[in-house]
Amino acid sequence: MSEIAENWLKLRARIARAEQAAGRTAGSVRLLAVSKTRSAEVVREAYACGQRAFGENYVQEGVAKIAALPELDLEWHFIGPLQSNKTREVAAHFHWVHSLEREKIARRLAEQRPSYLPPLQVCIQVNIDDEAGKSGCLPGELPALVRAVLALPQLQLRGLMCIPRPGNSAAFTDLAKTRQDLLVSIPGLSATRFDTLSMGMSEDLEAAVAAGSSMVRIGTALFGRRS
Ligand SMILES: *Cc1c(COP(=O)(O)O)cnc(C)c1O
Repeated sequence: MSEIAENWLKLRARIARAEQAAGRTAGSVRLLAVSKTRSAEVVREAYACGQRAFGENYVQEGVAKIAALPELDLEWHFIGPLQSNKTREVAAHFHWVHSLEREKIARRLAEQRPSYLPPLQVCIQVNIDDEAGKSGCLPGELPALVRAVLALPQLQLRGLMCIPRPGNSAAFTDLAKTRQDLLVSIPGLSATRFDTLSMGMSEDLEAAVAAGSSMVRIGTALFGRRS
């Protein structure tokens, strides 16, 4: 068995254990394979294991990889910082964006989403532990951004994403609470459509699953250390 196949099986078992330990339904946490810096061949290998959803951080690299694998039924997630001059390519090639943090970017993605594609699935990245200089919208700015995204039919708002500082697992609970608060306070948000908490990486997936993560974003534990 290849190293990736072995890692993939271990990771699936690790997620299943985390679900069980947290009293969550088996299969309720999706695995997003973070393939930044990895080749198209590596993606192909993970695909052969059964992996379908892949996350990319850099627009150019992601678009090239997507173009290199047209025959595979993959779901591509953009998870990196997104500048306004790169929105067109993301709108045209990706299925999901996890790193939306500004209304201007939301409007551009909506305008540039080709009409022959289904709505872009979107999570808002929240700077949940409020670190200066970090990506993500501040919790206080969130309701206005949520309302703005809900008004754009080319975008479907799916949930929230965070990257807390290492060891701060309280941030996962805070993000889950933030989602609940939004469901109560914003008309037009439904729990079935606004169903995603994108949180947890190789080092902290157990804490994220315990707090209610529905999608963990894993690079290192699947593909090894990045050089
Ligand atoms: C790189 C990256 C990951 C994966 O991190 P690992 O520690 O390698 O699992 C997850 N989310 C984002 C936004 C990333 O940039």
